[in-house]
Amino acid sequence: VIDAQGWIDVTVPIRAGMVSYPRNPPIEVSQVESLARGGHATVSKISLGVHTGTHVDAPAHFIPGGSGVDRIPLDALMGRARVLGVPDVRRIDAAVLRTLEISSGDRILLKTLNSPRAWDSPGFFEGYAHVTPEGAQYLADRRIRTFGIDYLSVGVTGENSDTHRALLAANICVLEGLNLTPVVPGEYELLALPLLLAGADGAPTRVLLRPITRG
Ligand SMILES: [Zn+2]
Repeated sequence: VIDAQGWIDVTVPIRAGMVSYPRNPPIEVSQVESLARGGHATVSKISLGVHTGTHVDAPAHFIPGGSGVDRIPLDALMGRARVLGVPDVRRIDAAVLRTLEISSGDRILLKTLNSPRAWDSPGFFEGYAHVTPEGAQYLADRRIRTFGIDYLSVGVTGENSDTHRALLAANICVLEGLNLTPVVPGEYELLALPLLLAGADGAPTRVLLRPITRG
């Protein structure tokens, strides 16, 4: 996962049958033509929801009339980011977040118990760490730029829309489905490139981190 320039790939590979959030479409990959079957070329077809694996949420996901992924400013997706470790907390509320010294303009990625526990689970991992609506409102009040978490939703069933709405209404770019297993908390350069799906409420995203070494 670490290449020669020090980039760490925190993207979850998209493959047929991979885990998805409840009530999201299954991920299917098939070959409509293949060299092995005597075709001219190998051509695959994919079927998936836009909230598959590592992805970004756009305001349109929970805000009526909200903008799509193609309108997310690039500066929310690239630049200095802080990976903060909260390994022992399942419900991340304002009290937990207050201990992390989060400031205006920050790009914050939370490494929780989900990395690697949730990703190692064969099915959907119900006990995933998530942010409460009150915690999300705290982040909105801090005016952070970007918020990322290491499983398929930032919120939990029953309060999922409140958590999302607090972040998205504050124009915080939400990254979900990061696999932060290989990443130690610290300062990183973030590169997150969502597929440019016109007007969509989310998009699968390649996310890379590179440690910033102070010298
Ligand atoms: Zn999402």
